[in-house]
Amino acid sequence: MNNLKDNFGRTFPYIRLSISDVCNFKCGYCLPNGYQVDKNDQRKFLHLDEIRRLAIVFSKLGVRKIRLTGGEPTVRKDFFEIIKILRNEADIKKIVITTNGYHLDKKAKKLVDSGLNGINISIDSLDRKVFKNITGHDRLIEILKGIQDLQDLNFENIKINAVLLKNVNASEKDFEEWGDFIKKNKVDVRYIELMQTGDNLNYFKKYHVSSKIFKDYLSRNNWIFQTFGKDAGPSLNYINSKYKGKFGIIAPYSKDFCKTCNRLRITSRGDLRLCLFGNTGISIRHLLQKDEQIVELQDLILKQMKFKKESHYLELGETGLTKNLSTTGG
Ligand code: SAM
Ligand code: SF4
Repeated sequence: MNNLKDNFGRTFPYIRLSISDVCNFKCGYCLPNGYQVDKNDQRKFLHLDEIRRLAIVFSKLGVRKIRLTGGEPTVRKDFFEIIKILRNEADIKKIVITTNGYHLDKKAKKLVDSGLNGINISIDSLDRKVFKNITGHDRLIEILKGIQDLQDLNFENIKINAVLLKNVNASEKDFEEWGDFIKKNKVDVRYIELMQTGDNLNYFKKYHVSSKIFKDYLSRNNWIFQTFGKDAGPSLNYINSKYKGKFGIIAPYSKDFCKTCNRLRITSRGDLRLCLFGNTGISIRHLLQKDEQIVELQDLILKQMKFKKESHYLELGETGLTKNLSTTGG
């Protein structure tokens, strides 16, 4: 049973847990200068025992799915240990990750063996040069090889996220390249509309484009909108019988985006965030220190639910606490 309910009738069976702010890429919209080490900061990300308690508490409250994200979640040395703990010590049915795919070719087998239930890989372009320009890394080939390896190992749930960027990866040719890719591969490709954050206003102004251009492309090319399923996330999915994979659109500025919200977020330092954007968030880390605190923590989380707002108010330019998405996990 899910006890996490807000004032607008939404329930929350899903959390996104950021396990590190550190990232090894330099995506222009997120960390254009790479992760900056702050000498005064001890980089104290949630440790294994805290993550274990967190997962136990949320599973008691009805959470069945956890997404590990970051920063880049796979940079943590104990990354596979974290998956093991979620799997063995809490009643979490689905463990999934969002990754930039760094060294995916080297990690594919281990990821499959870990029992992971799904992987979202961020690839903004299938053009090697464009990919390098956006991320600061010439790693497209190893990532594509990693995706092939995952498929060869019969790993099923692979999704690709691409941030839609005006005059960079948003042309008919770009869409067609992805079309060719999902014709051959049972992989879903979703374009995410670029979001404004506290740090990226100029970038946003230069590159933001409405996802309508992709929607129109899909309509022109006989892609059929698939209605929402029970476990639907915010992606609008499109199918075409000639293709193995689906296309999707994640449009955070669209009118009804927040209506289907089914997730809460935890930052790598143990703040509960009720929304990716907005100012509502409190630290719950002090209640992650001992097993005996579990009931108290459950209570605190339940009380927070009434503060979840109906919408992110992003369309009003409100970005709340979010400087960039590496701190809250995208
Ligand atoms: N490092 C991992 C990755 O890139 O997949 C996980 C964290 S990243 C913050 C999660 C997702 O957020 C990625 O798909 C990324 O492209 C997306 N993202 C980051 N900043 C964004 C922004 N300003 N607007 C839209 N999507 C963004
Ligand atoms: Fe790193 Fe992901 Fe942000 Fe890119 S989007 S800089 S890979 S955290």
